[in-house]
Amino acid sequence: PSDKPDIFETRESAVRSYCRSWPATFARSQGAKQWDEDGNEYLDFFSGAGALNYGHNNPAVMGPLVEYLQSGAVLHSMDMKTPAKREFLQTFQDLILKPRGLDYSVMFPGPTGTNTVEAALKLARKVTGRQHMLSFTNAFHGMTLGSLSVTGNSMKREGAGIPLTNSSKIPYDDYFDGEVPDFLWLERVLEDSGSGVDKPAAVIVETVQGEGGLRAARAEWLRALSDLCKKHDILLIVDDVQAGCGRTGSFFSFEEAGIEPDIVCLSKSISGSGLPLALTLFRPELDVWEPGEHNGTFRGNNPAFVTATAALKTFWADNEFQNELADTIAALHQRLDGIVEKAEGASIRGRGLLAGLCFEDLEVAEKVAAYAFENGLLLETSGADDEVIKIMPPLTIDSRDLQAGLDIIEAGVAKFAP
Ligand code: PMP
Repeated sequence: PSDKPDIFETRESAVRSYCRSWPATFARSQGAKQWDEDGNEYLDFFSGAGALNYGHNNPAVMGPLVEYLQSGAVLHSMDMKTPAKREFLQTFQDLILKPRGLDYSVMFPGPTGTNTVEAALKLARKVTGRQHMLSFTNAFHGMTLGSLSVTGNSMKREGAGIPLTNSSKIPYDDYFDGEVPDFLWLERVLEDSGSGVDKPAAVIVETVQGEGGLRAARAEWLRALSDLCKKHDILLIVDDVQAGCGRTGSFFSFEEAGIEPDIVCLSKSISGSGLPLALTLFRPELDVWEPGEHNGTFRGNNPAFVTATAALKTFWADNEFQNELADTIAALHQRLDGIVEKAEGASIRGRGLLAGLCFEDLEVAEKVAAYAFENGLLLETSGADDEVIKIMPPLTIDSRDLQAGLDIIEAGVAKFAP
């Protein structure tokens, strides 16, 4: 460590967060590992907040990226046509949409997750002519004003400094810890012209709440929501920014429930490399945009198209990766079952490799996360009070690294929740 003043501390805004939990300077990364400047090794159970589903510097995406960067090809192109974009669209259609019988128009709304949510909300308003949105308790959809308006985190909402209007939160599945609400009450008030309840343009939902505490919606709850939306002509937006791209075991997190959302938001791991890329997918009939009505400078990240194409071709051309992923998911959940059995008041949340551990004592999660860092494991907490341990390794993690990370978690849990 140098004795110079720390420029991060002296110059960077107080808003910085991850670097406070993990006060290392990360210099190198490969697969499920990172190393700091002093050469200390960390296992990564964070995966760039879900942007690194295929691990760091995966050779399958790095090779094509390096080749592209050295070829003199176009890097930035607004929304102009490029061979890299053509190849991505073709691959996405052939390997992702067609085999699943899905027909969606693809929009590139800007570089990040919040951009795809903004585009989805705007499109829903434009299509329906209605303004109101419904979203769920503890939802997380992004930090710009539209996506923040449907986000349920009070601390982040207060950060806006202005009223966030035109949206209401309703209870997510499992909000009542087992006492499960259905949508009958919502249906009744929507049908009651005297209720004063505005019909929403759309409902936006995460199938697993990645930031809001890892609650996972049951398939039948998602189907009931989808049926209600269809019956009342309300658009269903699934925000698959974090739960998508294989996290829960299938490419889209809603496949298991057998629903077909009207609009789907993708970002984070869609580029396959950690480069920013976002997609908004919608039923072709909903494509009511006028040319240029929603634009943005960074809609044509060609290096991200190149790595995205490589990732889709490497991992999603057949079922091999998905089968391996099922084994990794089973191995993780088997260990988690063992850990909660031994720990007082512990339970498992989430689905697939978007998993959580929560404890009756709300402070345990933060203590375990701090212990994990001291022992060389990057482990995040989730939930409004950081009360849930979030377990999100790369989907490509090998069994040895997975078990090694889980050993650290098990030891931390044994220490703080015996
Ligand atoms: N939606 C979900 C479900 C997310 O988890 C996130 C990011 N954590 C976002 C939207 C926003 O994405 P970004 O941070 O790239 O703007």
